[in-house]
Amino acid sequence: MANLGTPTATAAVLNKYDFVFRKKYGQNFLVDMHMLEKIVDCAELTKEDCVLEIGPGIGTMTQYLAERAGKVIVVEIDGDLIPILKDTLGDYDNVTIIHQDILKVDLHQLVEEHLADRQKYKSFKVVANLPYYITTPIIMNLLEKKIPLDNITIMVQKEVAERMQVGPGTKDYGALSLAVQYYAKPEVMVSVPPECFMPRPKVASAVIRLTLYPEPPIKVSDPEYMFRLIRASFNQRRKTLANGLSNDSGLHLTRETVIEVLRQMDLSETIRGEALTLEQFGELADRLRKL
Ligand code: SAM
Repeated sequence: MANLGTPTATAAVLNKYDFVFRKKYGQNFLVDMHMLEKIVDCAELTKEDCVLEIGPGIGTMTQYLAERAGKVIVVEIDGDLIPILKDTLGDYDNVTIIHQDILKVDLHQLVEEHLADRQKYKSFKVVANLPYYITTPIIMNLLEKKIPLDNITIMVQKEVAERMQVGPGTKDYGALSLAVQYYAKPEVMVSVPPECFMPRPKVASAVIRLTLYPEPPIKVSDPEYMFRLIRASFNQRRKTLANGLSNDSGLHLTRETVIEVLRQMDLSETIRGEALTLEQFGELADRLRKL
């Protein structure tokens, strides 16, 4: 099957199958060969890589991935796209098509099955033009499940990419920034304008690469507790940290306790969560846990 990365080639496939875009699945297909090359370059693939592509659409990017990686597994929710994928990817014997909701896939099992031949495939990577309506759950699922991934190269809404990369003191800094930065080094790689898609999305997009750390960059005794503190601080981001944390009934903390710990850390009692670094959240969690 010829390269699908142009509006004409994509339209021809869609017409052949009478395919109708489903908004509810966030379907915006890439139709720019130059941009497809750039995105796939960001993942730094070799024939020793096994790649998971989430939401392959009609298989446009999959063709590029299949050329460069040893093996590609695609997971697509829309049953109408499965016969199309079988057609467009028919020439590749290193592609496995799975018809499933990515949030329901047992990722550990998937990695185990496909990395069984460890002599051949040394690493596992994710590359995807993500459906924007579930970007955050997909990313959090990939990170929290602690599957042995090397990197995740994904196209997301530009604003979400920035949120993952920023540090304290900016308006975009929040629970997603801290969660991503605990597990991975985020790098925004390239901006992608709406013209590169069919149909065109209303927002600008960007490709971000998350390179997973073998060990988190900070040591914290109970990471889950730290993330509960982080969520509570950003749920009420206009409040001071002491008020935000003591208002969260699940944490059982008094305002005085939080202020005392902030003092021990040489932080102002009126500080807000958005001013704390990941390291400071880790220290706060360890100190509050010990009380
Ligand atoms: N990769 C294609 C491309 O770049 O042209 C399509 C990307 S499109 C933004 C998102 C794709 O994800 C669509 O094919 C959509 O059907 C699929 N999708 C949406 N929700 C999904 C889910 N929960 N699990 C798996 N695939 C999903």
